[in-house]
Amino acid sequence: MDLTLQQLQDIAAKIGLSQVGVSGPERVAGLFDLLEKRRAEGRISPFEEKEPLQRIHPGTIFEGCSSVIALAVPFRPKPHRVPLTGTPLPKGLVAACARGLDYHLLAKEKAEALISAIAKKTGSGNRFLIHCDQGPLVERALAVKAGLGIHGNNCTLINPEYGSYTALALILTGVDIEPGRPLKGGCSNCRKCLEQCPTGALLQPGVLDYRRCLSYLTQASGEFPHQFRPLLGRRIYGCDSCQECCPHNKEAAYSLFPEASLEFFPGEPDLKALLEMTRKEYDLTIGLTSAGWRGKTTLQRNTVIAAGNTKNPDMVKLLLRLLENDRRPVIRGHAAWALGQIGGTKSVRGLQKALPGDPEETVRVEARIALEKLTS
Ligand code: SF4
Ligand code: SF4
Repeated sequence: MDLTLQQLQDIAAKIGLSQVGVSGPERVAGLFDLLEKRRAEGRISPFEEKEPLQRIHPGTIFEGCSSVIALAVPFRPKPHRVPLTGTPLPKGLVAACARGLDYHLLAKEKAEALISAIAKKTGSGNRFLIHCDQGPLVERALAVKAGLGIHGNNCTLINPEYGSYTALALILTGVDIEPGRPLKGGCSNCRKCLEQCPTGALLQPGVLDYRRCLSYLTQASGEFPHQFRPLLGRRIYGCDSCQECCPHNKEAAYSLFPEASLEFFPGEPDLKALLEMTRKEYDLTIGLTSAGWRGKTTLQRNTVIAAGNTKNPDMVKLLLRLLENDRRPVIRGHAAWALGQIGGTKSVRGLQKALPGDPEETVRVEARIALEKLTS
């Protein structure tokens, strides 16, 4: 053995990582059948690898793998206390994971620092591979196996120190490190997250239907499903409802990394400012967060829905401008829907104009549905 677990944790502590665990290179037991079932039921999201073996066996993506180091990078920001719907303020809501500097960058930076420290201790010539949300492996299952936390019924990893407000990164390596042990404990009889989920996406404890999950839907591009638009409330990116209610998160520590608290994407951004944002402004703010990869159009689409959900007449002027002038059909179509939520004479006139006038069939359909709602 090249390193004991304690030696690794001491090395990690010196670079500010208090939560580090290790699992062996063998496949995660008991997961193959679960993933096959999910595949058969169509519950593998487009963002995930479809092939179960690739997902559970580190050796398939890293030859000579002896150990898998799992590290938790916390990102919990200060809490917000504004209700999700019915507020007159035209403000949005952004998930905790998407406010500070992109946690992928932060986690990779910490993983690289840890690799340098391990290489220094064990000698050069060792190989390492960082896996952070951009590979096939089920990071959460490997992190649980490494002793970094427990599986929550809300489908997150719950770490004893940081709760579920943690980004994960794995380091696959040829260095032989003493493995950790899975932690004891779990959710007991709690079902709060299932009860609080606005869309019923948590079908059973630990079973998520991504097609109903607002976190997934805010990231998927194109048309936002009609039935979930009112349930989106003011959310612009992600959804924290099944985490905010979790008792394990009550005492969860705030992130010590200053990069996590920079708020490039404010927790409650001004909806009008988001809708009028230039590309350059986007790149210098949201573009630096974990929401940035999704692109300005999808986030503005979500913002348009949130504007409709505020029912705030102050948003009508801007929504009419988008409906009439925005070059992106997805924005015009969702603006028509939002005007249908807010209503009023000006909304009706704008929709009547768009109904025959818009060059896109999808936008005309949205305008027709919105008009029917307002005039029936
Ligand atoms: S992220 Fe939101 S929508 Fe998705 S499971 Fe959790 S509470 Fe439900
Ligand atoms: S809310 Fe309750 S059931 Fe859900 S993850 Fe937290 S402890 Fe588990």
